[in-house]
Amino acid sequence: MNLDGSIFVLTGAGISAESGVPVFQGTNWRGRSHYDLANIETWERDPALVWEYYSHRRSSARNARPNAAHIALAEWERSFSRERFFLCTQNVDGLHEAAGSQQVAHIHGKLFESRCSGDCGLKPFPDQNVYDPASLPHCNCGSLIRPNVCWFGEQPFGLNSIYRALDECSIFLAVGTSGSVQPVASFVAMLRQRPHPARTIYLGLEEPANAHHFDEVHLGAASQLVPEAISRLMARTAG
Ligand SMILES: [Zn+2]
Repeated sequence: MNLDGSIFVLTGAGISAESGVPVFQGTNWRGRSHYDLANIETWERDPALVWEYYSHRRSSARNARPNAAHIALAEWERSFSRERFFLCTQNVDGLHEAAGSQQVAHIHGKLFESRCSGDCGLKPFPDQNVYDPASLPHCNCGSLIRPNVCWFGEQPFGLNSIYRALDECSIFLAVGTSGSVQPVASFVAMLRQRPHPARTIYLGLEEPANAHHFDEVHLGAASQLVPEAISRLMARTAG
């Protein structure tokens, strides 16, 4: 491998759709939108409803398995030293880890983790449970336990290290992300304003809202396009 600089990979719901994880963005659940349900204000008003939604999502995602796109990214990561490959996902499923990825920045948190909604210092913990709206889980400190995800109205996780990795990357590969959720949607535009340019590539079924900012846009199934793009990039940069 003779690649200069480093790789930044950003993945969204489109990479997991082929693994059977429903794409919740923009869809309705019991007449409510994802924006409404994945929202700190809704949690504060009606935590039982939000837990019901996340219990449903846990049930829906539990049997999902990584597909060829997740696996190809995990293999690609192994070709680089740790500081030269950065994988950031908007997905709360654990499919990158299930495929073998070692370092994954979960900007929107993890579906199968929970944490205390108070500030008692309890660390996020693995949690596969679904909860009955009539008996919501409580922390020892008395506060409700909540999903360890980032809701609308909250600060995404790990932004400092994400922006640092973005600033250093020479290749930016976005997979199956709608290009409409901030701050992630602005990453590619930020790269264009940098003095040292990065090659920016989009892969996914549908054209993203920010398609005009990418150098390359390839439309199709992620499970096919991701392994192909990696082979192409490796061939281009080898020797
Ligand atoms: Zn607590």
